[in-house]
Amino acid sequence: MSSRGLYIHIPFCRRKCIYCDFYSLADEGVQDEYTAAVIRNIRHFGGCFDTVYFGGGTPSLMSPENIARILDSADIVSGAEISMEANPDSVTHEKMCAYKSAGVNRVSLGIQSFDDGELSMLSRLHDGRGARAALSAVRGIFDNVSADLMLGLPFQKPSTVSDNIDILSGFGVQHISAYMLKVEEGTELSRREDLLSGIDDDVQADIYEGAVEQLSQRGYPQYEISNFARPGFECRHNLKYWHCEEYLGIGPAAHSFIGKRRFGVRGDIRSFMASPVMETFTTDDNAGGETERMMLALRLNEGCDVPPDVAQRAGRYIDAGFMTIDGTRLRFTVKGMLVSNEILSSLLM
Ligand code: SF4
Repeated sequence: MSSRGLYIHIPFCRRKCIYCDFYSLADEGVQDEYTAAVIRNIRHFGGCFDTVYFGGGTPSLMSPENIARILDSADIVSGAEISMEANPDSVTHEKMCAYKSAGVNRVSLGIQSFDDGELSMLSRLHDGRGARAALSAVRGIFDNVSADLMLGLPFQKPSTVSDNIDILSGFGVQHISAYMLKVEEGTELSRREDLLSGIDDDVQADIYEGAVEQLSQRGYPQYEISNFARPGFECRHNLKYWHCEEYLGIGPAAHSFIGKRRFGVRGDIRSFMASPVMETFTTDDNAGGETERMMLALRLNEGCDVPPDVAQRAGRYIDAGFMTIDGTRLRFTVKGMLVSNEILSSLLM
């Protein structure tokens, strides 16, 4: 059996950020019980893994002992990429060293910005100083570090984004995820007219295009809509999603793709911990077809080979500067990446 990716959702956050719709609770006191449930499910589903990703939530709220227990329970091939998301407010030198001893070899820090005003607007728990201190601690311990930045925040100045990129490249991180702010239904942000009035599509597009260019100049070529890396440091786990490869997702609100089946787990930590095996629901029982593969692969800068009918339909997007084609290889331009969801639905659905 070939190796899969393993995603483990850690659904704990000390406070909810105003834009966030991920499943998380301020409930880290149950982490021992939660760890036991994760291990039961790893054993139940089995498989062998060449990437592991602790996402959240805030995985750095888990004790290093629990992270070690989880990793020890899984069949992980040697040389696997083992990533963990961490938030600056829960990073300490000792804890990071202990995660490394447990097997973690890649850390993704939720920096978002170094600007105190932006961080407090987002209700993040850290400030710019805390972000720098956490980065410095993590960079001193790990040689594969990623940082998240947010683009297109309400009233955001392009110069703030540019400063953020310069600070990150100054720290020598190997990977940067730069996400455009999305206003998700049901979040506090979606009800904050005072902030929504500060989001402008044209400014957002300028910020995105400027960031892509600056990141490339600083040695972080774009490899996916929101992801940039020094060559060789692209996230192997996330590449599995875009290459339509198998992964097992464990935890409430996690998703999996195994065989031809895509399935999910309800966002309910109590039922996850109480069940001997997590209950799943099928979202697609004939997944991984050609259309889906193209849909995912086109998010990548490398693009993908497309059949003649898709190439023909793409003609109007190529003429408008949103895509390029080289032989049968279709790709988005930077301008096209920004509106890729809309284009992909009309091109492939
Ligand atoms: S720390 Fe991350 S997962 Fe937690 S609420 Fe904020 S954005 Fe969401």
